[in-house]
Amino acid sequence: MNITGTHFNYYQVCKRKLWLFANGLNMEHTSDLVYDGKLIQETTYPQRSERYEELEMGGIKIDFFDARNKVIHEIKRSNKIERAHEWQVKYYIYVLEQTGIEGVSGILEYPTLRHTARVTLSDNDSAKIQKMEREIEQIVESETCPPVINARICKSCSYYEFCYVKEEE
Ligand code: SF4
Repeated sequence: MNITGTHFNYYQVCKRKLWLFANGLNMEHTSDLVYDGKLIQETTYPQRSERYEELEMGGIKIDFFDARNKVIHEIKRSNKIERAHEWQVKYYIYVLEQTGIEGVSGILEYPTLRHTARVTLSDNDSAKIQKMEREIEQIVESETCPPVINARICKSCSYYEFCYVKEEE
């Protein structure tokens, strides 16, 4: 199977979300998160698109890639720093390295927090990503959908109603 950045991201967030998405239940259009992310990038950093390139390859899409310095800029509107964000950028670096682009690093930017964090990929991280990829395949190909996780993030998940509507009735 072709693992995309979305699969990898959903794996970090919720195994059930990964399974639902990969098995064709796509409700992402009901969420405004994608739109908001784009909006914050365009309004906070209007000059970005002139300096950086959009890069799409191997199932990932990087909005701002500084090709000259080989730096991925990933902007999050979130007011919370999350481990999944870091792994998302690590995964981008991993995919670029797989295609032969060496020496890539990343910068995570949180404009609302006025915080930035540098992201690099170690050999140990690459090994972990390979293990995650195998787990992603196992989850996606499984006949059973993983259970709900009852987490705080469920409230902002596009599958929220699908997952919890019965419990609320
Ligand atoms: S609502 Fe919660 S349990 Fe359901 S897919 Fe989203 S994150 Fe997972």
